[in-house]
Order: sequence, then C-alpha cells, then structure tokens
Amino acid sequence: MDPLEVMANIKNVFPFFQPIFSADEHRIIGYEVLGRYRNEHEVVSLGPFFQDETIPEEYRLEVDNEVLRKALEQSNLLEEDVLIFINRDADLIMYDHGEQLLDILFEFQEKGLTLNRIVIEITEKNYQGDLDHLDHLLNYYRTYGIKIAVDKLGTDSTQLDRIGQLAPHILKVDLKALRSNTVQQSFHDILYSISMLSRKIGATLLFENIEMEFQLQFAWRNGGRYYQGFYLQQPSSEFANRDILKEKLRQKCQQFISYEKKKLESFYQFTDKFNHRMQQFVGKYKNQDQNELLLEMADRLTNIAFRLYICDEEGFQQSPNIFYQDDHWLQQQEYLYKNWSWRPYFLENIMKMKRMKKGILSDLYTDIETGEMIRTFSYPLKENEYVFIDISYSFLYEHEGLI
Ligand code: CA
Repeated sequence: MDPLEVMANIKNVFPFFQPIFSADEHRIIGYEVLGRYRNEHEVVSLGPFFQDETIPEEYRLEVDNEVLRKALEQSNLLEEDVLIFINRDADLIMYDHGEQLLDILFEFQEKGLTLNRIVIEITEKNYQGDLDHLDHLLNYYRTYGIKIAVDKLGTDSTQLDRIGQLAPHILKVDLKALRSNTVQQSFHDILYSISMLSRKIGATLLFENIEMEFQLQFAWRNGGRYYQGFYLQQPSSEFANRDILKEKLRQKCQQFISYEKKKLESFYQFTDKFNHRMQQFVGKYKNQDQNELLLEMADRLTNIAFRLYICDEEGFQQSPNIFYQDDHWLQQQEYLYKNWSWRPYFLENIMKMKRMKKGILSDLYTDIETGEMIRTFSYPLKENEYVFIDISYSFLYEHEGLI
C-alpha cells in the first residue's frame, strides 16, 4: 500500500466493525473498529499502514482519526449499551498526549455519545516511552468513564506485571497461537495465569481470533466472557443483528457444559473409588507400623503412583519418600521431617480432609522433580497422619476425565 496514495485519498478510508459477543447473553455487546481503505479495485486493511513506523506519526494519526470519526458517526445507529472498541498504539497516542482522540470523543459526547461506551484497546508492543506518562494519560481517560483494554495478550508472559500495574477493565487475549489441541503447555500455563490475574484485579477477559470451535470452547472454559473472531462473525462495514448467534452460542454453550460435567463426574467417581480402596486397605493394615503400611500400599499402587509419603497436619514429613524407579520401589530417607506447609492449597486440603474424613484428588500440575504432569491423592490415615500419593501421568492419561 502506498502511504501517499492513502493520504491523498483520505476520504476513501472508512471503518469496518467486528462484533464482540458475550458469554452471559449470547449476543453482541460491542464492536471493534478496524481501518479499511478503498482503492480502485478492492477494500484493503489499514493495519499495515498503522504499524508502519516509516510513515510519520501525524499522518497515521490523521488517518486513524478519520476512521474514528466515521465510526462514531455510524455508531449512532447502535443501541445505547453497545460498546465501541478503538485501537490505539501507545506510541501514537502519546505523540499528541492523546489530545486529538479526546477532542473527537468530546465532540461526539455533545451529540449524545456517552463515554463509558468507549473502550480504548491499547497496544504497548513497540512503546519506547515512559510507562508512567502513559498510565497518567490512561488514568485521565478513565476519569471520563472511558474503559481501558490491554490488546494482544497471548504468548508473552512478561506482560503480567504490566497488567497488574495498569489494572485495565478488559484483557484481550489472542488465541492465534492456539491452532491445534496439541499446543504447547506453556501457552496454556500463561493463559491460566492471565485468567487468574484477571479475576483478582476484576478485569473482563476477551478472547479474540477465535477461528475454530475448539478455540471457543477453550475461551469459555478459561473464564472468557467476551468472544471475537471469524468463527463467530467477520468484520463488516455494517452492524450485524445483535442476536444473530443467540441460538448457535446457546447450543455450543450447552455442549461445553455437558462435556465439562462429564469430566467432573469422572473426576468425582475416581475420587470415590480411590477413597473406597484406601478405606479397605487401611482397615486391613491399621495395626502395622507406618513404614510397612506405606511399602505395602506402594506395592499395590505400582503402575498407578510413583511417589508416596506421610505428613502430619502441619506439613512435617513423617516418613521417607517411597519412590518408584527402575522397576522397584526405593526409600528416600532425606525427605524425612521436611516441611510442606508452604505449598499452595496444602493446609487448606489438610483441613478439608480432617473435616470430611475423606481423601482429595488434586488438580493437574507439574511435579517439580520429574517435570511430569501429575495429580496427588491425599488421604487421612489416622489422627494427625496424612498420606500423599503422587499419581503418574501415564495412568492419568489412560483414564478419562483425569487429564
Ligand atoms: Ca485490537
């Protein structure tokens, strides 16, 4: 695209709108404004133009603002609760200290636009300037009710502390990297952290670039409230009917729910079976000394577990580790009397077992020593004695609902 051609024909730039759907109502709650240019032959995206740093900032701002004006003019056709998402690059917005943007918004406010419908999607990827200055500006915007979204989150975990600092209203997570079910574990882990963080700071998660059904399912399962992408609706110069996907999304949602319920059902069935098994075992071997009991238990759990040990209710280990290696169980004395109370959920789970007098199956997590994905089954053996059984990945893999 020739930048000079665009500048000379600025009347030919115009907005496209991509709908954003919500999980709670299954309808359109907003539109992201995208820049387009109509040349002699076709309509092309202005994305490359806005990202081209060889084009002077003032030109890019001018084009950006032309798109925005037209978008806001057109948006008076929308119902009054529909949000308008506006892309702004941190560098560009700081170029004029955000003044032109605010001037345009004020101009439309006078015509009846309420500013709490505006969401600024800020991209900081190439930002070289002072973050404090940027935050100052964004906080100033907030005082007018304007919402802030952090754009293009996904594969980069370094953004986490930035998100904490900015505390935006919305986090936009890009699912482009999630193209197959075999995507790297690290991507899942980063998304999990983002999802936890968004919950803590009260930000809404928006998943974008949803192009396949499993990505929608992924978004739903990971706390996504807003969805956007070709799988749902292509960008267009017109606004779509808000309820265009109501039926489809409701059906998909029900599929996801029943899949998840089945998974949970197998999880609880497994937990019940394991509890039953432990009850019988402990009933039979309760008079044996602790080490013998543990070795006997290990023997019966070959091919299921790979590590067993006993702790008291304060997390001090009361037995060696019984560890499976090279086709036999060995004892690792060096673990005796270590303390595990610092581990996430440790005391909470001890208290649960103590009150319910039942064992607990943990979530899926990576074992620090073996690097494998595992679950731990913990069980109250007797007063102040809890056994921890680390279940191997190969066993979990072969049982439905445990991975
Ligand atoms: Ca965007």
